[in-house]
This record gives sequence, structure tokens and C-alpha cells, in this order.
Amino acid sequence: MKDIILTGDRPTGKLHLGHFVGSLRNRVKLQNEGNFDKMYIMIADCQALTDNFDNPMKIRENLREVALDYLAIGIDPEKVIIFVQSMIPELAEYTFYFMNLVSVARLMRNPTVKNEVKLKNMDESIPSGFLNYPISQAADITLFNTTLVPAGIDQEPMIEQTNEIVRKFNSLYGDTLNECRILLPDNTIARRLPGIDGNNKMSKSLGNCIYLADSEEEIRKKVMMMYTDPNHVRVEDPGNIEGNIVFTYLDVFANDDYFRKYLPEYKNLDELKNHYKRGGLGDVKIKKFLFNILNEELTPIRNKREELSKNMDYIDEVLINGTEKARIVAKENIIKFKKALGINYFDK
Ligand code: ATP
Ligand code: MG
Repeated sequence: MKDIILTGDRPTGKLHLGHFVGSLRNRVKLQNEGNFDKMYIMIADCQALTDNFDNPMKIRENLREVALDYLAIGIDPEKVIIFVQSMIPELAEYTFYFMNLVSVARLMRNPTVKNEVKLKNMDESIPSGFLNYPISQAADITLFNTTLVPAGIDQEPMIEQTNEIVRKFNSLYGDTLNECRILLPDNTIARRLPGIDGNNKMSKSLGNCIYLADSEEEIRKKVMMMYTDPNHVRVEDPGNIEGNIVFTYLDVFANDDYFRKYLPEYKNLDELKNHYKRGGLGDVKIKKFLFNILNEELTPIRNKREELSKNMDYIDEVLINGTEKARIVAKENIIKFKKALGINYFDK
């Protein structure tokens, strides 16, 4: 059986390098390999509202921005169904029934949620909708019979939670739902790309991002601001590469071609790292190298994005058409779900 692939992003801002290496590149690869039954990308506006309920305009404004990012990185709406979460009411129905299958204690133990509660200073005032978002995510995944989720590692606890719900549902109501697996990037740093501040993960909510839409100047400014090694004061000082965010990014983005093109005096990253550790290599040089790489990666995306943004009616069309297609599947799939629960009272 071929995979049914589903992923999504919260429309809390434009997409950034973390999305790019954590999930978007795998999505484009899967799309182009074409070895799947169906592939969906969901813009998770309901989930975004769980911690942005006081600022719905932010979600509204970013919906189309995220769609633009998808098309700019090469997602093809002819091959992939892009849809809007809030326009599929069956997702809310699934969520409602799934809530019976998960204890509050289990939700509180979710490490990603715990981390987000801390970062967002929610403390004692966690909205119950936010606490429940892993359940709503289980609904997103299972409603479409998803088997594969290309995502960053922060999504691992969500996949675990989803599979727990699936097993519980199936054991209570009969074999109905599929389990799924996560597809992480091969590069372990790309599974959770840190922010340009060196802390945590790059995240829209934390304001530590390089966005796919950033201009050349913005990229340059952000790279030049990056944290390196505070003890590497003079060029001749030996430098530390552990926790040095410029090297962390180079670990993800540098390849031999980029060395040939922008830094031919070094063969590869190991040589560069060794020189830095020995001393005699300045921060500006490594930052310029990283800037050149990121700018080369992002320039075609930025240009395509600009081109696409001239025709926002087309973006709307993509979202409306994708959502219509997803809704047809949702309506079909919920029939079996309701039957399993025995709430299909008047079926003939
Ligand atoms: P928010 O701050 O609103 O939660 P976000 O930046 O975390 O936004 P999401 O929309 O929550 O982005 O994440 C969408 C997808 O991108 C998920 O699959 C997630 O794992 C992946 N992703 C997000 N940030 C990173 C990152 N820094 N590194 C790797 N993957 C990431
Ligand atoms: Mg997130």
C-alpha cells in the first residue's frame, strides 16, 4: 500500500529556515518522487488560534503568506492538496470524540506542549484548547488515513499521541483507524534547527528566524548578528565550534560545491572547523560564507514568491480548490468513524 502523506504548518507567520530543512524539503522530495497515494498539506489555523485566540488577525494575515511560501518552495497544487483546517468541520468532530480517550495528565506530560507552555509563559492559565491541540492534531492525521508525516522532531510526541489514540479507538470500537510514522530529515540538526539567537528552536513565535521571504540585506544582517564563540576575540585566538551557531548552520547547509564556489581555499567543513579551532580564522569570514550559502538557497524562493504574490487570486483559488478536495475525503472517511462509534443512528 502506498503512503498517504499529511503535514501542516500554523499560520502564525511566514515560513522560515527551520521549516525549510525540517519539513519542506522532504515534502518537495516526496512530491517529486510521486510514490504516494495522496499527499495533503494543511494550514493549521484552528491550532494556531489555540495560543493566538486574542489576535485572530495575525492568523488571517498569515494564511495566504504560508500558501505563498508553499508554492515558492516548489509545492505543486496539481500534485498536493493544500487545504485550510477550519474549513473541514469533520476535524472538529473527530477531535471531540478523541478527547474522551486521553487523560488530562497525559496531555500535561507531552514534552513539546510542556516546553511551549514554558516559552509562552502560560503557567497556570493554559487554555484548555491549547492543552488539547495534540488531540486535534491526531484528528488531522487520522481523518485522512495518514500513514506518513514529514516533520521536525518537535512533532514526535504528537505522532506518539496520535498512535496511542488510534490504538485505543481501535481496541474500543473495532479496527477503524491507521497508525502513522514520522519522516524526519536525515541531518540531525535539521530536525530542530536552532534560532539565530542560538537558543531553542527557530520558531515564528520566538522571533529568532530567517524567513524564506527575507531580502538579501535582511539575511546579511541576521547572519552578521549571529552568536559565535564569546572567547574568540581576536582572529588568532583558538575558537570553539560547540554551540557556535554559525557552524551549526554550516553543518546543515554547507556542501563541497559551496566550498568550491565561495571558499575554495578550504576543501570541506572539517578543514574549516579545524582552522577555526586552531586559531587564525575570523568570524566575519565564516559569516560571509554562511551568508553566501543562505542567499543562494533563498534567492530563487524569494524571486518566485514575489512573482506569485502579484496574483493573490490564484493563491485563493489553490486554497479553495484544495479545501474542496480535502472536504470530499473528510465527508467520506467520517462515515466509517461514526459507524464504529455507533452514532450513525439513521443509516439504512
Ligand atoms: P509556532 O512558533 O507558531 O509554533 P513554528 O515556527 O514552530 O511556529 P510550526 O507551524 O509549529 O512552526 O511547525 C510546522 C512544521 O515545521 C512542523 O513539522 C515542525 O516540526 C517544523 N519546524 C518548525 N520549526 C522547525 C525548526 N526550527 N527545525 C525543524 N523543523 C521545524
Ligand atoms: Mg510550532
